[in-house]
Formats: sequence, C-alpha cells, structure tokens
Amino acid sequence: MNPEVAVGDRVIRVPKILCVARNYADHAKEMGTPVPKEPIFFLKPTTALLPGGGTILLPAESKRVEVETELAVILKAGGRDVSAAKAVDLIGGYAVFFDITARDLQSKAREEGGPWTAAKGFDTFAPISKGVVAHRGIDPHGLSIRLRVNGVVRQDSNTSQMVFRIPQLIEASSRIMTLEEGDVLATGTPAGVWPIVSGDVLDAEISRVGTLRCNVASRNR
Ligand code: MG
Repeated sequence: MNPEVAVGDRVIRVPKILCVARNYADHAKEMGTPVPKEPIFFLKPTTALLPGGGTILLPAESKRVEVETELAVILKAGGRDVSAAKAVDLIGGYAVFFDITARDLQSKAREEGGPWTAAKGFDTFAPISKGVVAHRGIDPHGLSIRLRVNGVVRQDSNTSQMVFRIPQLIEASSRIMTLEEGDVLATGTPAGVWPIVSGDVLDAEISRVGTLRCNVASRNR
C-alpha cells in the first residue's frame, strides 16, 4: 500500500500518522479512564493506511476489533516547536479517519504496561477518506461526526467536544517530534466506539469534510 492521501486534487505522501488518545470526555468515560490533563499521542504505521476506504481485515490475533471515527488533519507544512497561534499555517486539509483498534490487545497492553503498537498497527487499520482543502468556511471544531454500522447510528457527536483543540495538539506534538508535510493527525474519537465483525459495512460522515465507507472481512493467511 502506498502511504499516500488525496487532498483536493493533490496526492501527498504520508510520513507518519499521529493519533491522540481519549480526546473526547465522553469516550474517556466509556473506556473507564480519566480525561487526560495533557494530550496523549501514539503513532500508527503508514502501512496501515487504507486510502479512500476499502476492506478492513480482521487479524486472527484479536477477538475484539473496534472502530473509532475521527476527524483527521492533513498537514501542508511541517515544523517543530510550533506555537498554537502559528499552528493554523500547517493545516492543509481535513479527512474522515477510522482509528481501527484491537481492543483486547490494547487492554492487555494497558494491564501489562506495554505499548499499543499491535493493537493499533495492523495493515488496513487506518482507513482515510479523500481530504478536503482547509479553508475559512470550515471550522474544524464545529463539525458533526457520525458513524453508521450496517445502517444503524453508533457514534453521533460534534468536534466541538474535543478536550484538546487542533492548535494545542499541533503545539504539543511538535515539541516531541518534527512535523512534516503530509503528516496525518487523527484528533480522537467521541463515545460510541463499536465492535466490528466480518460482513459489516461502516459509513462515517463529517459535515463539510466528507464520507468514508469500509467493509469488514477476516484476514486469511
Ligand atoms: Mg482513536
């Protein structure tokens, strides 16, 4: 899989996928975990990308895979130690993103104090829609975000519910690592994360940004 994403009429190489844990208070609550006092970041490998949607493959290693619907920010420029005030200059576009998660592997990692690499990193675990070019008409903190699984609404929220807003996320992450053009920043999921099984059809929609559709199948080896 080429690690690329389309934004408007451009196709951009994706150097990394940076995700945020528990960035909606209602999701932290459903996970039984506190709302963080500062952003918690983790990475997904770019080999997990599924540009434009497609088929999510369930690995044999997990008995419980869940879908998290998220607003993704696609960077048009990089930087380090970027202030929140300058962060908007880095935002190139927005897309609909699924942070697919092997929840049982994540729970085990939590208990053992291990990393989330396996839980978050399988191939096809990062579907992303075509991106829209950022412009003043899109307020990324005022968008409805909705997921349907087999036609039934499972997540229904608004990006206004984010704990840490996008400029803060860019500021905080750019203190840790250099941000690059094409980086995808997934901004966290609202409540309603849902277990997926082979045969499911996932449809997500973020107002003014777009839609993302995926099928689910078991991975055969
Ligand atoms: Mg997530």
